[in-house]
Amino acid sequence: MTETAYPKTQPLESPLYGLEARRVSAWFGKHKVLERVTLDMPPGSVTALIGPSGCGKSTFLRILNRMHEMIPGAQLSGEVLLAGQDIYHASQRPQHVRSRIGMVFQKPNPFPTMSIYDNVLSGLRLAGIKVRDKDSLVESCLRRAGLWDEVRSRLSTPGGALSGGQQQRLCIARSLAVSPDVLLMDEPCSALDPTSTRRVEETIAEISSQVTIVIVTHNMQQAQRVSHYCAFFLAGAGEPGGIVESGTTEQLFGDPHDPRTADYVHGRF
Ligand code: ADP
Ligand code: MG
Repeated sequence: MTETAYPKTQPLESPLYGLEARRVSAWFGKHKVLERVTLDMPPGSVTALIGPSGCGKSTFLRILNRMHEMIPGAQLSGEVLLAGQDIYHASQRPQHVRSRIGMVFQKPNPFPTMSIYDNVLSGLRLAGIKVRDKDSLVESCLRRAGLWDEVRSRLSTPGGALSGGQQQRLCIARSLAVSPDVLLMDEPCSALDPTSTRRVEETIAEISSQVTIVIVTHNMQQAQRVSHYCAFFLAGAGEPGGIVESGTTEQLFGDPHDPRTADYVHGRF
C-alpha cells in the first residue's frame, strides 16, 4: 500500500449535518465500557476512530445510530446530536434515526440470494421512502459506490455472487439509497484484500462530500489516507474506554499531544 492520500473534500462549506456526542457513557449490565466520550464529527467530514481492540469503538459507533439499545442489558447515558437534535429524544423513532444514520459492517452483508438491483433498494421500505424512478436511483447509488461499471450488465445477479470487495461496495450503495446524513463504518476493509480496500477507500473519498462519515479502522495508513479528523480510544486494564485525544488527522499523527497516542500511531503497542 502506498502512502498517497486521496484528495479530501473540504468539510467546511457542506450543507450536510454532522454528529456530536456529548458525555456518552455505556454499560453492558454492570460492566462500564465507555466513560464520558465527547466528540464532534463535523458535517461532510470523515472522522476515524482508532485504538486497540476492546476499548469501545464498536460500542460507540452503535450508540451513534441507536443500535446499542437493541442489545439486551445495554445501557447508556449522555447525548448524541444530529443537526443539533438529540437522537435519543422521546420524539425520535429509532427506525427513523437508523435510516438517517446508516451502518456498514466489517463483514459485507448483502442479501446473498437477492439481486444486486433489489439489494440497493432493500432499505427503502424499512425507511418508509417511496421512489418514482428506481432504475436511476439504483444507477446513481452504484455509481457513487464505484460499482456501476462492474455490474451494469448483470443487475439481476444475486448479491452473494460478487467478490468480497464488490459486496462491500454494494452494501455502501444500499446505505446511500436512503440518502442518509451520516454513514458509520466499522472496520469496513478488514475482511478485504489490498485492491478491494483501495476501491472502498476511493469510494469513501468520493462520497464524503455528500455524507458525514465515521470509520473505525486498525489501519493507521488508512486513517491517514481517508480521514480529516481522528479520535484515539483507549481502555486501561479493567477500566472503561474513552478518548485520549482527538483532533485533525494531521495533528494526531504529526504532533500528538499525549505520549500514549504517539506510541499507538507509531505502532509501539
Ligand atoms: P472495540 O470495537 O474497540 O474492539 P467493543 O465496543 O467491541 O470494542 O467492546 C468494548 C467492551 O465492551 C469490551 O470489553 C467488550 O467485551 C464489551 N462488549 C462488547 N459487546 C458486548 C456485548 N454485546 N455484551 C457484553 N459486553 C460487550
Ligand atoms: Mg470493534
